[in-house]
Amino acid sequence: MKERIYLASPHMSEEGYEQSYVKEAFETNWVAPLGPNVTNFEQELATYVGVNSTSALSSGTAAIHLGLKALGVEAGDVVFCSTLTFSASCNPILYLGATPVFIDSDAKTWNMCPKALKLAFEAAEKNNQIPKAVVVVNLYGQSADMDPIIELCEQYQVPILEDAAESLGATYKGRMSGTIGDIGIYSFNGNKIITTSGGGMLVSNNEAYTKKATFWATQSREAERHYEHKEIGFNYRMSNVVAGIGRGQLKVLNERIAKKKEIYETYQEAFKEIEEIEMMNICDFGQSNYWLSVMTLKETSKVKPLDIMLALEAENIESRPVWKPMHLQPIFKQYPFFTVSENIPVSEDYFNRGVCLPSDTKMTTEQQNHIIELIKKLF
Ligand SMILES: *Cc1c(COP(=O)(O)O)cnc(C)c1O
Repeated sequence: MKERIYLASPHMSEEGYEQSYVKEAFETNWVAPLGPNVTNFEQELATYVGVNSTSALSSGTAAIHLGLKALGVEAGDVVFCSTLTFSASCNPILYLGATPVFIDSDAKTWNMCPKALKLAFEAAEKNNQIPKAVVVVNLYGQSADMDPIIELCEQYQVPILEDAAESLGATYKGRMSGTIGDIGIYSFNGNKIITTSGGGMLVSNNEAYTKKATFWATQSREAERHYEHKEIGFNYRMSNVVAGIGRGQLKVLNERIAKKKEIYETYQEAFKEIEEIEMMNICDFGQSNYWLSVMTLKETSKVKPLDIMLALEAENIESRPVWKPMHLQPIFKQYPFFTVSENIPVSEDYFNRGVCLPSDTKMTTEQQNHIIELIKKLF
């Protein structure tokens, strides 16, 4: 069996930065929760993205959960959310007993369509159900077109939670993805652009939000000698060992982005000559971090996404479909969905025609060329 090529897998620094921070944690016995790596990771990430305050948590999902809670989402509320995403973007809406309303994608950005968002707001106004928050996802490393989304949210005075789990290091009009909404979140899950094995970060320019998140994440323990609790608590804090991995990974984030971009551009160049293939559009309003290279096949193509996935799988190469939209998921399909498409919604169309290609930063040029040849042979 050939060595497996992954979609995206953990890639530790050649220098061993991660291990030295972890070693330090062991040597100082800061193995138990919290400790200097957590504080330093929070500060270093805050500096990297240019934000006032951060809260290191056990996962991106936990960060979304506490972020929505900080924005005041409660049982019975409504929360708008991009439909083309991973379920972790909207599961926390249900944790809080609120109702999700899904918004279709824009064909150019793949992210929340401002026109569909407008429709959703107009309907919400009519029903007297203005949402408590809007979860805007930045898919596959690219920011949503934030300006028109912000304009609408300001008009209705609704805060934005930016799900930047996939877009750490990307920019939108010179600002870091994840720092544009009222609250942003990042994920350090194993397949993300940098990883801590598992972890997340909540960021905001409003310190009240991050402080509250840290408080809730440590069991809502009041500042008393004994254990005093006035609010419900969670065990969501990042550990000091895990934060050490994060500190090391942050040092190679720019290198990883450069490599991801090279991978995307190599696919783009190689598939130029194949009429049926289109690479995911990269917008000129910012820099993507190119987390995953994604292609779509034209409707008329005889080769279908499954043909590509099977051809790669036969050679032990991982690829996968585009996220299945949330409004099509059995668990979420009962909730409202807004689109401006007259025929098939953009998100469904991309789900049907898309393939996420191997985008592992440890992939060699030879391996990528092999993948390209395998795909080209199908046409
Ligand atoms: C990975 C991911 C999350 C969840 O992050 P975890 O750290 O795995 O909990 C949320 N939203 C999106 C868009 C993601 O890709």
